[in-house]
Amino acid sequence: MNILVINCGSSSLKYQLLDMDTKNPLAKGLVERIGLPGSVLIHRPANGEKEVITAEIPNHSVAIKLVLDTLIHPEYGVVSNLDEINAVGHRVVHGGEKFSQSVLINEDVMKALQECIELAPLHNPPNIAGIEACTKLMPGVPQVAVFDTAFHQTMPPHAYLYGLPYELYDKYKIRKYGFHGTSHKYVSQQAAKLLGKPADELKLISCHLGNGSSITAIKAGKSIETSMGFTPLEGLMMGTRSGDLDPAIVSFIMRKENLNSQQVEDFLNKKCGVLGLSGVSSDFRDIESAAEEGNFRAQLALDVFAHDVRKYIGAYAAVLDGVDAIIFTAGLGENSPEMRQGICSGLEYLGVNINPQKNKVRGEEVDISEDNAKCRVLVIPTNEELMIALDTQSLVEIA
Ligand code: AMP
Repeated sequence: MNILVINCGSSSLKYQLLDMDTKNPLAKGLVERIGLPGSVLIHRPANGEKEVITAEIPNHSVAIKLVLDTLIHPEYGVVSNLDEINAVGHRVVHGGEKFSQSVLINEDVMKALQECIELAPLHNPPNIAGIEACTKLMPGVPQVAVFDTAFHQTMPPHAYLYGLPYELYDKYKIRKYGFHGTSHKYVSQQAAKLLGKPADELKLISCHLGNGSSITAIKAGKSIETSMGFTPLEGLMMGTRSGDLDPAIVSFIMRKENLNSQQVEDFLNKKCGVLGLSGVSSDFRDIESAAEEGNFRAQLALDVFAHDVRKYIGAYAAVLDGVDAIIFTAGLGENSPEMRQGICSGLEYLGVNINPQKNKVRGEEVDISEDNAKCRVLVIPTNEELMIALDTQSLVEIA
C-alpha cells in the first residue's frame, strides 16, 4: 500500500509518498510560496535527483494537482499512475474537543472541521483546502485526518482548564488543547521500544524542541499534561514565539507600542522568543555560533531556553510522580548536544546522568545516559509523516 501524506500550511505544502511495506518514503517534497510570486515545487525522489519545478501556484488545489502530476511524471515520478496511491493522510492542526483520534474523512467530519476553524483560524483553512483538493482530484480514494491536538485529549480537566470563569470554557471552549501531538505520540512509542518496556509501565517526558517547541508528560502511553495551550503560543519560549508571559504584559505592550489585538498577537508569534531575545536569528544554529563568538544576547537566549525546558521537566516530573525517561526530539532536540547538555545539567536529582561521549550524536535513535542512570535520556528523531501514514493505513484497512 502507498500512502500520500499531506501537510498544508498557509502558503506551503509538504508531502511524502510512503511505501507501507518498507515504511520508507518513495518521494518527498515541498511547495513554497503558494498564492505568492515565485511559487516553486521541490521534489525529492528516494532514488533520484532533486527536481525544482517553478510554476504559477495560486492556491492549494493547484499545488496538489502539481504534486500529483509530479508523482506520476514519466521522468522523475515514482509511481506510474494515481491508482498506485491507495490513501491520503492529512495533518490537521486543530481537532478541538471533537477528535481524540485520527478519523476517516466523510461529510460529517468536514462539517466538524469547519467548526474548528474558530480555534485555529490560520491553520485549519489550508488543511481543509488540501482535503477538498484531494477529494476533487482523487475521487474515491480514502482520506484520513490526523490531528495535532488529538493525542492530548486524554489530559484531565484539572490539567486543561485555566483559571478563568468556567462559563468561558462552556461558551467559547477556552481550554488547553496542546499541539505536536503526532510527534509526542510517535517518540513515546519509539521510547517504549528502545527501553524494552510496555508503554503502560512508563512515565515519560517528551521534549519536542524545534522552531516550535513543546513538552509533554506521558503516563502509560497517554498525554496527561503539555506545555502548549489554547494556541501554540503558550509554554516554552520558541524560535519567534514568546511562550509563557504574565498576561498583563500583553495589554501593557499594546498601550506602549500602540498595537491592536491582531498586531500584538502577530508580534508575540513572530518577533519574540529566541529571535527577539538574541537579536540574531530564530535559528538555533545561528544563535549557537553567535554565542560561541561571544555575543552576550545570543548566550542569554540559549540560557533562558535551557532554563525554561529544565523548569518544565521539573514540573512534569512532579505531575507524573517520577520519570523513567526524558526524550529529546525535533531539529534542536535531535541535533544539539550542547543544548541537551545545558538542559540536563541540574537534573541529577531526578537520576539524570548523560554520557558526554554518547551525547555527541545527531539525528539518531539512541539512549545517551550513563549505564547506571536511573532516569534514561533518549534522542529519538521524530517522524510525523510515518505516524500519519500508519494511522491512515490502520483506518483504511478497518473500513
Ligand atoms: P524543526 O522545527 O524541528 O525543523 O527544527 C528547526 C530548529 O532546529 C531550528 O531552530 C534549527 O536551528 C534547529 N537545528 C537544526 N539542526 C541543528 C543543529 N545541528 N544544531 C542546533 N540546532 C539545530
